Amino acid sequence: MTNNTWSTDRYDTVADAIAKLYVKALKDMPPDVRDALTKAEQRETVKMGRTVLSTIQQNIAVADQQNLLICQDTGTPVYFIEVGERSGVNPVQLERAIRHGTVQATVTHPLRSSVVSPITRINNQNNTGYRVPVIHWEFVPDRDDVQVVIVPKGSGSENMTYFRMLLPADGVQGIKRFVLDSVVGSGGNPCPPVIVGVGIGGSSDLCMLLAKKAIIRPCGQPNPSPEVAGLENELLEAINASGLGPMGLGGLTTALAVHVEYAATHISQNPVAVNIQCWAARRGRLTVKNDGDITIGF
Ligand code: SF4
Repeated sequence: MTNNTWSTDRYDTVADAIAKLYVKALKDMPPDVRDALTKAEQRETVKMGRTVLSTIQQNIAVADQQNLLICQDTGTPVYFIEVGERSGVNPVQLERAIRHGTVQATVTHPLRSSVVSPITRINNQNNTGYRVPVIHWEFVPDRDDVQVVIVPKGSGSENMTYFRMLLPADGVQGIKRFVLDSVVGSGGNPCPPVIVGVGIGGSSDLCMLLAKKAIIRPCGQPNPSPEVAGLENELLEAINASGLGPMGLGGLTTALAVHVEYAATHISQNPVAVNIQCWAARRGRLTVKNDGDITIGF
């Protein structure tokens, strides 16, 4: 026990805040995604591509003006949590608060419940189920806050997810080919223009997680490694040169950004994963400071 151990009241407050976070994420597009969509529309020269991008802008404007969801698909609730080592949080109680908040948002708003059992297809009508919401934990040294990022992951884009154990001899060239084939082969299914999350290295499970983690980065923010950022640019150019375009109907922008995350891997492995995020690249961030102050943003 430390002096700053969270009180029971704080978990209740966080559960309420998680409910607000989920609804806000479904209604309010992050500014970086808005900017990327606006720039894509401004530079689009293909008539159909421009029409689609203009319709997307209208969709966002109507959601803003009428306080509506950006898309009907409430997605699978996926949370990424960063726990500062001096935060004083109990992860079991925080996980419970996140589950409560997810249920509360779904039932009281109300939201469509998109989560079912894969065996019985029974829907609990609250966007939770066995092992869902999906929660990923990271423990961070020298911090005293807790950050919770939600990604309501739409199914059209999540269905377009790919993983391959390439050979080390395939090298980075093989990785580029796999990413390009995956994104272009998905056509209009993931609702382009998309953000492409790429995981490279690690074990198979870590590689998939890295691809998902890559999509929560603000749109177009490069990887801090110049080498990896160069790969992101190269992939973005190659994907957009395909001409697939918005909603797969032709145009200059198939992807708004490519984000790569990587990890060390085994000498005899070369894993690569692709997780695609649709144009409705919704996310929200809850920050709980050490003094209990809570903010909701992106
Ligand atoms: S993929 Fe995204 S934009 Fe398309 S229907 Fe699903 S949530 Fe909506």
